[in-house]
Amino acid sequence: MSRTITAGTATTPERREAARKRAVDEGIEMRQVRSTDLWVASSGSNPAAAYVVKIVDGQVISCTCKAGEMGTYCKHRAAWELMREVGA
Ligand SMILES: [Zn+2]
Repeated sequence: MSRTITAGTATTPERREAARKRAVDEGIEMRQVRSTDLWVASSGSNPAAAYVVKIVDGQVISCTCKAGEMGTYCKHRAAWELMREVGA
């Protein structure tokens, strides 16, 4: 069993909550790259920013943003989970 993204870091409920709030505030949108397990996260507030999020078995495995590379619970991961929860 591997838990790559959280290895070595503690994801607190506060960090999760903050990431979710930023995801909503910044209008982050998730778009699946057709027929792959990759999703592109783009920000409504910064059109120049886009990151690739990898999903395996319904879990966010990695994100290419700075926070994601550090294994931190980032806003892109939050955006994906929020999207899943509303069933979009
Ligand atoms: Zn990210």
